[in-house]
Amino acid sequence: MSTDSYAAPDRPIGLTAPSGIDREAHNRLDEAWLAAAWSHPTTRVFVVSGGQALIDDTPDGRTELVMTPSFDAPLTETHRYFLGTDEDGVRYFALQKDSLPGRMDQSARAAGLREAGLLLSPRDAGLLVHAVALENWQRLHRFCSRCGERTVIAAAGHIRRCPACGAEHYPRTDPAVIMLVTDEEDRALLGRQVHWPEGRFSTLAGFVEPGESIEQSVRREVREEVGVSVGDVSYVASQPWPFPSSLMLGFMARATTSAIEVDGEEIHEARWFSRDDLRAAFESGDVLPPYGISIAARLIELWYGKPLPKPGDVV
Ligand SMILES: [Zn+2]
Repeated sequence: MSTDSYAAPDRPIGLTAPSGIDREAHNRLDEAWLAAAWSHPTTRVFVVSGGQALIDDTPDGRTELVMTPSFDAPLTETHRYFLGTDEDGVRYFALQKDSLPGRMDQSARAAGLREAGLLLSPRDAGLLVHAVALENWQRLHRFCSRCGERTVIAAAGHIRRCPACGAEHYPRTDPAVIMLVTDEEDRALLGRQVHWPEGRFSTLAGFVEPGESIEQSVRREVREEVGVSVGDVSYVASQPWPFPSSLMLGFMARATTSAIEVDGEEIHEARWFSRDDLRAAFESGDVLPPYGISIAARLIELWYGKPLPKPGDVV
């Protein structure tokens, strides 16, 4: 099977479903517009803190972000992010605070994207991933990279300006490649990172380096981590991954060699799996099925041809 014959995954990749939110970037610099949007009675606000927000279960079995009208939210413009407007004209802001507010009822709880991304509606997941990405960028870019002066927030959270040298700094996104490598027998190469628990295997991944195309990056990372050469590289899909600021670019990659030599620094162990091998490894508990929101699970599933078992499933 050629890597070209893998179709796009039929299940949505976490954090990528259409959210129905128009980010309205053109309004971010209009302070009068932002003030009016903030004070509108239908506007909704949630607090983001340390990558987490409060989520709550509804009586009909859904999970949603805990949001309040803006008049209930403390107005701290320096930590106010405008996230956009939904199809009904409701506008959404996130407030970045040092801690989450007291819980409103017993079922509300703090959650990060890894948990909440699996539970929330596309709208709420889209709002949260935007807010968390902004918070991470703001936290790590408080000083001007040109002159070292402290920068100030602008554009409702989407720019930091330097009052000393006038530089404007925009949110950073760091491209990273994540790839499922297959060989001529259509076996998949999965690796275990040095710090992962026994039995946890997944796709290889790494950051794009300066001066590199993403295809070159895929080939270099695979060669560095497991000593395997890669020929054809096919793009599958991408995923925002703000931990703290990555954009994962997902690929299927075809190996031209099969001998494995792990680097021992990032990858502790790597193996070729046929589909039958992988199924048997799941059944025996030798390999833990991947789970969660990562595109890695979707790439493996795309090759495997059907949904992977969830941890704890009897296969
Ligand atoms: Zn500066």
